[in-house]
Amino acid sequence: MTDDETPIFAAARQANEVLHGDGHLLPRPDRTRIITIANQKGGVGKTTSTVNLAAALALGGLGVLVIDMDPQGNASTALGVDHREGTPSSYELLMWETAVDDLMQQSPHADRLFCIPATIDLAGSEIELVGLEHRERRLAEVLVPEDLASLGIDYVFIDCPPSLGLLTVNAMVAAREVLIPIQCEYYALEGVGQLLRNVELVQQHLNPELEISTIMLTMYDGRTKLAEQVAGEVREHFGDTVLRTVIPRSVKVSEAPGYGMTILQYDAGSRGALAYLDAAREINSRAVASSATAGKTEE
Ligand code: ATP
Ligand code: MG
Repeated sequence: MTDDETPIFAAARQANEVLHGDGHLLPRPDRTRIITIANQKGGVGKTTSTVNLAAALALGGLGVLVIDMDPQGNASTALGVDHREGTPSSYELLMWETAVDDLMQQSPHADRLFCIPATIDLAGSEIELVGLEHRERRLAEVLVPEDLASLGIDYVFIDCPPSLGLLTVNAMVAAREVLIPIQCEYYALEGVGQLLRNVELVQQHLNPELEISTIMLTMYDGRTKLAEQVAGEVREHFGDTVLRTVIPRSVKVSEAPGYGMTILQYDAGSRGALAYLDAAREINSRAVASSATAGKTEE
């Protein structure tokens, strides 16, 4: 076996090509996709998936905007954008004080990667929202797909807090797709029923176009039987909605945000980075495939 045939070399080459844009550009979806990443269970990989998918698509040449709707501001940290108190943020967006293009900050991680950060201001906003008109549609009203397209944005990812409160409802009303990360661990499915019922309620009353487009298995530990069992159960239950790509549990993935990085900057050749690159490609190819068959009736 020659050097360039070892798996590690192949992984490093793939990562290098993605990072330096050697002709691995992804096809653009025919319209801006707005995807909300939700699961009211905490710590399942919402933020990690948001920032790594966003970075992978941006490195593939697409325009990507992450909206941080979690007062914890973890997505803003991982994308390396300023989110100190007083920074114009998703709070101003929800309050209709400032427009999307004035709030977008360029992430240092990729040319076409942007973030509207979350600051501590967002923490009180669920209570403030209760008294406002159109309280469930505040975000939807200001996230207009045509305007986003004219800003060169192909994907918007909205990172939600671990609750089903008004911030998550706003994210679901503003999006067309929901992506649910499910951690391959005990109790993984706990609360998913509640989440599905909430998505249904939003579909019935607020946003009939919403669909659960993607379920993503995260923190998969191949050494345990449990991970395999959870993955099997999720696939049985949700079928093709589940991405083929599974995100492995990896220490590198959890270290990256501590350096204000995604896994693609922190260690582009690692298993975690390659998994997120594959997942991003899979998500993008589904859209491209479905727009190619648009007009045909599907089951
Ligand atoms: P919250 O509900 O608090 O917003 P979350 O659903 O956004 O949490 P993350 O913050 O993405 O979850 O992840 C929870 C923790 O697990 C973090 O410390 C993160 O670094 C770690 N983590 C996420 N994905 C992986 C992975 N694939 N391997 C190892 N650790 C991971
Ligand atoms: Mg989070």
